[in-house]
Amino acid sequence: MSSIKEYFASVGKGVSSLVKGMQVTGKELVTPKITECYPENRDTLQIADRFRAELTLKYDAEGRHKCIACGICQMNCPNGTIKLTTKMVELPDGKKKRKLDKYMYDLGSCTFCMLCVTTCPQDALEFSNDFEQAVFSRDSLVKQLNYKPEVEDAPKPAAAPAKQPAANASQNNEASKTETN
Ligand code: SF4
Ligand code: SF4
Repeated sequence: MSSIKEYFASVGKGVSSLVKGMQVTGKELVTPKITECYPENRDTLQIADRFRAELTLKYDAEGRHKCIACGICQMNCPNGTIKLTTKMVELPDGKKKRKLDKYMYDLGSCTFCMLCVTTCPQDALEFSNDFEQAVFSRDSLVKQLNYKPEVEDAPKPAAAPAKQPAANASQNNEASKTETN
C-alpha cells in the first residue's frame, strides 16, 4: 500500500516540476528577444555608451587633447598598460616646457578598471564603446593614443594699452587749452 502512495507522490512531484519548468519556458516565449544578429545588423547595432572597449584621448573640434603628460594615469595603472614618453619644447617666450611625446596603450593587458580615467586631473581620457577590436597579433593591440598631428596654440594677443584715468585726461585737456591760449 505504502509503495502505491510513494508511486503517486513521486508522479505528483514530477508533474509539478514539469508545470514549473513549462511556466519558465512560457514566460521566455513571450519575453521580447534581445539576441543580436551580428554582424548582419552591424549598421544598426546599439552599444551602450558606458561599455568599455578601449581607452582613448579626448580630442576637441580643433584636434587638441588635454593631456599634460603628468604621468598620473601611468602610475595608477595596476598592470603597466600605459607607457608615456615626454619631450621638452621651447615656447615662443623662450621658456622650456615638458609635453607629451607618445601615449602608448596596450589594449591586450587592460583590465578596463578605469583608474586612469578617474584619476586624470585634466579629464583627458575616456573609454570608447567601439567593441570591434579583434586583431591577428598582440602587437596590433598596442596603440598610440595621441595619433593626431599636434596643433600649435595660437599666439596670445598683445595686451591692450592701459586706459588713461578720467582725472588725468581732463587735466591734460585743461593743459592743452592753456597752451593754445
Ligand atoms: S592622460 Fe591625464 S593623467 Fe595621464 S598623463 Fe595625461 S593629463 Fe596626466
Ligand atoms: S583601465 Fe585600468 S588597466 Fe586599463 S589602462 Fe586604465 S588603469 Fe590601466
